[in-house]
Amino acid sequence: MDHVDAVVIGAGVVGLAVARALALAGREVVVLEAAPGVGTGISSRNSEVIHAGLYYAPGSLKARLCVQGRQMLYDYCAERGIAHRRCGKLIVATTEAERAPLAAIAERAAAAGVHDLVPLTPGQARALEPALHCVAALHSPSTGIVDSHALMLALLGDVERAGGVLAVQSAVRSAVRHARARTGSGPGAAGMALVMEDGTELATHWVVNAAGLQAPALARRFEGLAPQHVPEAHFAKGSYFTLAGRAPFSRLIYPVPQPGGLGVHLTLDLAGQARFGPDVQWVAAPDDLAVDPARAPAFESEVRRYWPGLPAGALQPGYAGMRPKISGPGEAAADFLIQGPRTHGVPGLVNLFGMESPGLTSCLAIGAHVAAMLHG
Ligand SMILES: Cc1cc2nc3c(=O)[nH]c(=O)nc-3n(C[C@H](O)[C@H](O)[C@H](O)COP(=O)(O)OP(=O)(O)OC[C@H]3O[C@@H](n4cnc5c(N)ncnc54)[C@H](O)[C@@H]3O)c2cc1C
Repeated sequence: MDHVDAVVIGAGVVGLAVARALALAGREVVVLEAAPGVGTGISSRNSEVIHAGLYYAPGSLKARLCVQGRQMLYDYCAERGIAHRRCGKLIVATTEAERAPLAAIAERAAAAGVHDLVPLTPGQARALEPALHCVAALHSPSTGIVDSHALMLALLGDVERAGGVLAVQSAVRSAVRHARARTGSGPGAAGMALVMEDGTELATHWVVNAAGLQAPALARRFEGLAPQHVPEAHFAKGSYFTLAGRAPFSRLIYPVPQPGGLGVHLTLDLAGQARFGPDVQWVAAPDDLAVDPARAPAFESEVRRYWPGLPAGALQPGYAGMRPKISGPGEAAADFLIQGPRTHGVPGLVNLFGMESPGLTSCLAIGAHVAAMLHG
């Protein structure tokens, strides 16, 4: 049986960033990916926003890793020539009732270490974005957008240059305890053998489960991991509609958040094309990613709250993404759940659960965090 230092399961942006951190620390890393290529999961169906870190509970992993990861990501993009733009965003209250939630965002952001938010009057907001309707706004200058595919290719390049290997079409079925790996020399050696769908096995000291939507289901098939350490998976689909023609905005526009997501916001891609979404639709299984055109009227009325001039019929079904939730509808939003041996007692194993937004922004900080956990 082949034997390596570390296996990362899943080649999305989070798995690749973790693999990069381990490979740069001198570990022999293999990334196992079920799909035929990198980044075909959650990482290719999101808003591609570099979040400033405004929304997350102070002290939470989401707050900490987003603020750290945002700066790391801007630096990495600049260093590696990855297309990105620090375009800024406006968070808007469109009714008097939304003033209080907007003020709460400003307070929470400051408590989480984001100190560059600027409150704007409607006149000041309209001076920046003339088509906008609001009764109050916050300007976040450190929000931006990034080419997530270029980012993943750069991460993979770093993994490979450091001697790591990506194996695609390599789905992991389960993991069993393994005697040879158990006698391995790495810190916190896992002593696991990963069993592939084709029945072959790969022994390793360290395993990082970065399987995105499948992470909880896969973890349930890890021998020795007690079931109480695996959260129940919930799925919240988010659909996007694109705009026919150019949007009259040069910054991202976000309403105040709605339960389960950040509200139907306007994001721009690097070519300046606008898309609106994602909404929140709780679903039983993560497989259906078709956008239902019947959702268009609901999108139109959401968008018209901050852009009354949206032309009728201008929204076209775009694409949908799936949030890997570990809290269900009506429950408080969960933090990232990054579980290492101290929590679950399985040496060398780290599970990454609930890696929803801001996972893209946070990916480099998550990589550093997981590498530090495994290095003890
Ligand atoms: C609608 C939406 C909008 C978002 N917008 C933003 C945003 O603007 N900014 C931001 O910071 N974050 C955003 N996010 C969050 C961000 O996209 C995710 O946090 C991030 O992409 C998760 O990456 P991942 O590597 O964990 O998962 P994935 O990209 O899903 O990677 C997991 C990989 O594991 C593979 N896999 C699964 N099972 C197995 C197995 N058994 N064996 C081998 N491989 C396996 C899959 O094929 C997949 O490639 C958004 C998320 C959603 C859903």
